[in-house]
Amino acid sequence: MIPSDKTQYIVPPNESITDPDQLCAKLCPNPEALKPIADLFPMRINSHLLPLLHAPDDPLARQFIPDPEELRDTRTDIDPLAEAKQSPTPLVIHRYPKRVVFLVSMQCAAHCRFCMRKRNAIMATQSDPAALEQSLAYIQRSRQINEVILSGGDPLMLRDTTLLDILTTLRKMSHVRILRIHTRIPIVWP
Ligand code: SF4
Repeated sequence: MIPSDKTQYIVPPNESITDPDQLCAKLCPNPEALKPIADLFPMRINSHLLPLLHAPDDPLARQFIPDPEELRDTRTDIDPLAEAKQSPTPLVIHRYPKRVVFLVSMQCAAHCRFCMRKRNAIMATQSDPAALEQSLAYIQRSRQINEVILSGGDPLMLRDTTLLDILTTLRKMSHVRILRIHTRIPIVWP
């Protein structure tokens, strides 16, 4: 059973830099230029990652520091894989007959600039417990589904008890044979 109080099922993000002004001059010589990007697509660089970034153009930094190219990209849709059109519930993407992506968390420990779902950071800060239940019910009645990918956001941002509840519920569905967890936590916030 998913707790009805949203704050009870997700781990709050740790201390993070969310404004270009908070970056040192070495990493961000012109924070004003990055603010419009961070306003549209929120930034989050957590306290584990920050000491690992050494220059704005190093490969790791480029994953997390807003890039003006994000606003110049006029060809890519906000939903580049048209996932919304393939969502029978707000948290399920059903593109292939036997496989679904289940967006169990809308939180991430860091915001990757390349994220194909960075629209979610704009639309919601947390998943809705009622939507989680609705999505579990969809998977339960869709007997052709044999693979469920937990994604988001990052599933490992959930409290352990919530993640266990979701996995336990899915394990009880005899048609679901494969469970996968898509996460960057081991790298961005170990
Ligand atoms: S951790 Fe995953 S969902 Fe979150 S911003 Fe990075 S790529 Fe996107």
